[in-house]
Amino acid sequence: MCGIFGISGHPEAANLAYLGLYALQHRGQESTGIVSSDHSTLYDERGMGQVADVFPREKIRRLRGDLAIGHTRYSTAGSSALANAQPFRIGYHAGEIAIAHNGNLTNAGRLRNELESEGSIFRSSSDTEVILHLIARSSWRNSPDAVVDALKRVEGAFSLLMITRDAVIAARDPRGFRPLSLGRVEGAWCFASESCAFDLIGAEFVRDVEPGEVIVAAPGKDPESFHPFAPTPEHRCIFEYVYFARPDSKLFGRSVHLVRKRMGQELAKEHPAEADLVVPVPDSGVPAALGYSEQSGIPFEVGLIRNHYVGRTFIEPQQSIRHFGVKVKLNPVREVIEGKRIVMVDDSIVRGTTSKKIVTMFKEAGAREVHVRISCPPTIASCYYGIDTPDPSELIAANNTVEQIRRYIRATSLGYLSLEGLTRATSGAAGFCTACYTGTYPVPLDAEDREQLRLFEKPARRR
Ligand code: 5GP
Ligand code: MG
Repeated sequence: MCGIFGISGHPEAANLAYLGLYALQHRGQESTGIVSSDHSTLYDERGMGQVADVFPREKIRRLRGDLAIGHTRYSTAGSSALANAQPFRIGYHAGEIAIAHNGNLTNAGRLRNELESEGSIFRSSSDTEVILHLIARSSWRNSPDAVVDALKRVEGAFSLLMITRDAVIAARDPRGFRPLSLGRVEGAWCFASESCAFDLIGAEFVRDVEPGEVIVAAPGKDPESFHPFAPTPEHRCIFEYVYFARPDSKLFGRSVHLVRKRMGQELAKEHPAEADLVVPVPDSGVPAALGYSEQSGIPFEVGLIRNHYVGRTFIEPQQSIRHFGVKVKLNPVREVIEGKRIVMVDDSIVRGTTSKKIVTMFKEAGAREVHVRISCPPTIASCYYGIDTPDPSELIAANNTVEQIRRYIRATSLGYLSLEGLTRATSGAAGFCTACYTGTYPVPLDAEDREQLRLFEKPARRR
């Protein structure tokens, strides 16, 4: 996954991009970068690690101009290396351009094979670089047309920000898998994966970039909007609501926190429990636990404390860190747990290791019963559109029944929110991609696509 931010027409563009990325840090922590423009040239700074570490003040000062885009990366295609840190920047016959991408292209492998056989030389192992090659080879001489020409050839998920010497260009794939919003700050236009970035810089949320929309924002002009792609049904990623987005963001038109709370309410209706306390797995389980507690009348308690100075274990690329990850991160409050029947609420079970360790911790802290409630359906299929779900062989729900999972994690009972319940929680809004819960893929991949995707060497799976 990734976070992207862009701004056009602000004297402190790079500074605001830095702050915007800071608010989007949860979307990716492996690398980050900013590219700015002062209308005569582009400037870029990229590095491995988190925003605050990669950008000391001097680096931001070097990023001149009133246009900037930035990226926080969490690799889903391509390894965790500086060569894959975005934004990518190139010079070509029509000038300079840089790109920041959130999503995953499903036909990037085929396109890359084709381009390489015709002589293109790739610098990264990322799917995103394909777009730059297609832009550079387009017969259109101006950048917005060349960009549209290139995007018509790629398939899958893309929310993109590009920067040329004179404009920021935003684009969202026709299905709208990944979020992207438009904001306004002090006469400048800005773009961000999530609205929490606008809050930090004091920008006003204007609207979402629409699925299939391309917007060109040049300083001093109104943004120009195009809809160059054939209309397609929308497939916004439902997992953004379940886990990925920050709860203080307004995503796809709704408050993430309130949607998550409703998931908890639906969960309580579908899977009630005889218990004394509702305890969230922090932070991701908190809103759903509040909803569960409200609906069931069982008191909410903070029975598990998270150490906030540890990165998300899922995101640590080092296999060795994974195993003690849960213990480093979470510790039960014995005085709250002892002798109690607990409803433990989390957002999802992927491999099952986290839930198993937490149930064990609760029991060691004296819990009499641990009823596990999960605010989404069983995760049975991998994501090809930008979420780093493991191969089905590692997904516990792809290979086990709910009862088998319950036994594995040693829970007293286990209940998952149904797809219908999840849909109700999003106020019944249609147009979601639910492939990870159904195995039905809105952009189908044939065996060759899947084989080709291996070209983009996947990083070692984490957690
Ligand atoms: P498990 O141990 O079952 O593999 O992981 C479950 C935990 O991982 C849950 O607490 C959930 O919040 C978290 N999780 C689920 N999906 C993701 C993801 O895409 N990224 C990260 N960082 N964590 C995730
Ligand atoms: Mg979690």
